[in-house]
Amino acid sequence: MFRHWHRLREKRLLERHRIDEALWRHTLRDLPLLRDLSAAEDERLRHLTTLFLARKRFEPVLGLQLDQPMRLLIAVQACLPILNLDGEWDRDWRTVIVYPGEFIRPRSEVDAAGVMHEWSEVLSGESWDRGPLVLSWADVEASGHGEGYNVVIHEMAHKLDALNGETDGLPPLHPDMRVSDWTRVFRAAFEKLVSAVERDQPQPLDPYAAESPAEFFAVISEAFFETPGLVKAFYPPVYSLLVEFYRQDPATRLASRT
Ligand SMILES: [Zn+2]
Repeated sequence: MFRHWHRLREKRLLERHRIDEALWRHTLRDLPLLRDLSAAEDERLRHLTTLFLARKRFEPVLGLQLDQPMRLLIAVQACLPILNLDGEWDRDWRTVIVYPGEFIRPRSEVDAAGVMHEWSEVLSGESWDRGPLVLSWADVEASGHGEGYNVVIHEMAHKLDALNGETDGLPPLHPDMRVSDWTRVFRAAFEKLVSAVERDQPQPLDPYAAESPAEFFAVISEAFFETPGLVKAFYPPVYSLLVEFYRQDPATRLASRT
């Protein structure tokens, strides 16, 4: 009974929030990130994106006007990482706050000596635990071009990471995956990156990934979808685990279409 009611409700939501065909095609064509999807993936992504638009509340701030194409651009990129993750991967939060550009967050910390330190951070995105996803529109526009940068996927990766408690670079794994494999492979890759950044050696990730294991997971998730060939070449074992986790293989997808 509940199941039936749930389906009916979902069907009504999908009908009410149906994405215009021309707008959908246009959005996909404009984002290199989404050009290589199969017909089945295209259909599933559209379904998830429609549900995302129906269920999330968008809150533009500081005078930003957020029209339907802009909402769609955010929603479709938020749904790409969860394309093949069945279940309730984005259900524990509801609001998407969008700033026109980077935004400032005051920070403070009391050190071991009891002295209060205050500073502020300039952010392009932020993910609150079970709370809003916060994005800079200027950074959304800079995302999805196959250049390695994607603020929406970055913040979605933090959301997935936080589902099992700590935001620590270890998201809830599927039953056929082992936490010990993940921890070993990611720790080694993180250390390799930190040492490359310290020595100014070329590497394919935004150096921000060296901040912490959580940022490493978020940044390498962006690169996994944006520049998968580079991640596969530089971090092959991490690439394999990300394929298992996201249940997608963007490098193969890209190669099979070009
Ligand atoms: Zn981050």
